[in-house]
Amino acid sequence: MTAEYREQILNNYLRVLQNVEEAAKNSGRNPEDIKLVVVTKKQPVEVVEAAYQCGMRRFGENYAEEGLIKINALNQMNDIEWHMIGHVQSRKARLVCENYQYVHSLDSKKLAEKLNTYCQQRKMKLPVLLEVNLSGEISKSGFRIAGISDKQELLNTIDKISTYEHIEIHGLMTMPPFSINPRDSIPCYDLIIELQKYLQINRPTINWKELSMGTSFDYQVAIEKGATIVRIGEAILGSRNK
Ligand SMILES: *Cc1c(COP(=O)(O)O)cnc(C)c1O
Repeated sequence: MTAEYREQILNNYLRVLQNVEEAAKNSGRNPEDIKLVVVTKKQPVEVVEAAYQCGMRRFGENYAEEGLIKINALNQMNDIEWHMIGHVQSRKARLVCENYQYVHSLDSKKLAEKLNTYCQQRKMKLPVLLEVNLSGEISKSGFRIAGISDKQELLNTIDKISTYEHIEIHGLMTMPPFSINPRDSIPCYDLIIELQKYLQINRPTINWKELSMGTSFDYQVAIEKGATIVRIGEAILGSRNK
């Protein structure tokens, strides 16, 4: 970890914060309504430490076990919030409950049930977002929403999930299809807003406020469209070990 690299991370971070603020103001929003999750997947512990020293406090990991190495290494820093943003296999549910404070990628009833069981044992409440797949890509996880029947099925799933008292729905998350132009994400973000409205009308007692969308590539567009949480990795920490 060189001083140059640390300075680079700090500069990137400050630039991203400024861009977030501008994007919010451009769309008449309060910048304070947008939370930044710094995605640390495939980054070593030293990079996360440097990010912490630069003031970052919310980190996102894709793989429960890979994240655990960093969570353990930084366990003295108890003001960090660890977010699980990748697909969680049911058998990793316990590990996630024990080590993460927020789950963006709830994508099945089965996972909800498992998370609830372990959170109950720990007498905790875990905030979760429902991941939705709006692009129809097979490779992506998340609840698939194409036709009316998918929406009805999602409502049924939500009714089941909302009986679990130890997980708490806070909103929705999505990952748009890969493209080369950030504005290509717009149709996907329009769909998630539409879905959010549908859920607010049909399940008004549940909190649908949070929208986790936008990465390094398109976070400004996502904020213009209403993102409340952006998940940014490379624009701050530089390229990942491949
Ligand atoms: C990797 C990842 C990100 C961050 O991507 P960057 O291009 O590094 O900003 C955000 N969300 C999810 C789900 C990811 O897997």
